[in-house]
Amino acid sequence: MIATKSYAAQTKTSPLAPFSFERRDLKPADVRIEILYCGVCHSDIHQARDEWGGSIFPMVPGHEIVGRVSAVGSAVKKFKVGDLAGVGCMVDSCRTCVSCQASEEQYCDNSQTVWTYNGRDKDGAPTYGGYSDQIVVDEAFTLSISPKLDLAAVAPLLCAGITTYSPLHHWKVGKGSRIGVVGLGGLGHMALKFGHAFGAHVVQFSTSPNKVEDAKKLGADEVILTKDPKNFEKVARSLDFIIDTVAAPHDLTPYLGTLKRDGVLVQVGVPNKPLEVPVFPLAIKRASIAGSAIGGIKETQEMLDFCAEHNIVSDIEIIPMQKINEAYERVLKSDVKYRFVIDMASLAGA
Ligand code: NAP
Ligand code: ZN
Ligand code: ZN
Repeated sequence: MIATKSYAAQTKTSPLAPFSFERRDLKPADVRIEILYCGVCHSDIHQARDEWGGSIFPMVPGHEIVGRVSAVGSAVKKFKVGDLAGVGCMVDSCRTCVSCQASEEQYCDNSQTVWTYNGRDKDGAPTYGGYSDQIVVDEAFTLSISPKLDLAAVAPLLCAGITTYSPLHHWKVGKGSRIGVVGLGGLGHMALKFGHAFGAHVVQFSTSPNKVEDAKKLGADEVILTKDPKNFEKVARSLDFIIDTVAAPHDLTPYLGTLKRDGVLVQVGVPNKPLEVPVFPLAIKRASIAGSAIGGIKETQEMLDFCAEHNIVSDIEIIPMQKINEAYERVLKSDVKYRFVIDMASLAGA
C-alpha cells in the first residue's frame, strides 16, 4: 500500500484538514501519478458539504488532476514513468454496456461509473480524489497531457473543460450558431472560450458587473447583466443554444425567453434543489431543456488535444492546499477568476 498525504473533510460541516491514507498497490493496468496540481470545482463544495445527499466521509475531494507518472503496472501500454498525465471525474466503469462501449462511461447503463472521489471502487473501497500527493488509476481512465501548455492551467480542463466542450459538440455549436453562457465561473469561462473557438456568436450572462470586461476579453460578443430583467430584451428570441452553469437555484424563465424556435437550454450546473420548469416559454417555441454530465474518456482526450492545438487553458489563481477553506468561501461568493488550482507542492509541509 502507498502512504498518501491529503486534505479531507471528516463530516459535512467540518473544514478540510490534513488526512493520511493509503492508495492501493499497482495492479497490472494501473499507473501511479505524482499529483502536481488539482483544480477546485464547485462540485467539490456541493459534495464536501453533502448538498446532493449520500456523501461518503472522510472525503478527499478533487477531480481536476494533473501530474507526472511515477510508476506503471506490468501491462501498461500508454504511459511510461515521467509522462504528464491527467485524471478527471471518473476512474472506472462497467466497460461492457452500450454507453461504456461508446466511450460515454459517465452514463454507464449499469450505474457502475466509479467517481474519482465520493464513490466506491469495484471492490467497495471508498475513492479518494486529487487534493492529495498521488493517485493510482487504471490507464484506461488516465489522460495524456501535452507538455505544450501551462500544466497548472490544464488541470481545470479535466472537469470544467470537458463538461462544457461535450455539450457544445453534442448540440453541434459552430460557425453561425448564436449561443448563451449563463454564469462566468469555472465552467462558464471554459464554455465561453470553447464557444468562441468553435466560431459561435457568444452572449455571456452574468450577475457580476465586475466581470464584464473579462468576459469580452475571454471571447464574449455580448454581455448581459442579469440582475436587471430589461437587459434580456436585447437578446430576446435570438439564441440557438444556452449552456447554464449556475450552481444555485435560479429562475429559468428569462433565459428561455432568449431562445429561438427549437432552441435548447442545457443545464450543466447542478443546484442542490430542483429547478422549476416554466412550460409556456418551452411550448410556444418547441424549445427543450436538457442536461449533460462531463464527457467520456475518448472525448476528454479529444478536448485536451484540441486545447493543446489551439492553446486553450483555464484562467487560474494558484493556491496552497492550506488555503482551501478560504477558497471555498470565495467560490460561493462568485469571487474567483476563474478557477482555483491547488499547488500540491504545498502538501509536502502539511
Ligand atoms: P462556479 O465557479 O461557482 O461558477 C458558477 C457561476 O454561476 C458563478 O461564478 C456566478 O457567475 C454564477 N452564479 C452563482 N450564483 C448565482 C445565482 N444565484 N444566480 C445566477 N448566477 C449565479 O462553479 P463551477 O465550478 O463552474 O460549477 C458550476 C456548477 O456546475 C456546479 O453546480 C457544479 O456542481 C456543476 N458541475 C456540473 C458538472 C456536470 O457534469 N454537469 C460538472 C462540473 C460541475 P456570475 O458572477 O457571472 O454570475
Ligand atoms: Zn467538477
Ligand atoms: Zn457501463
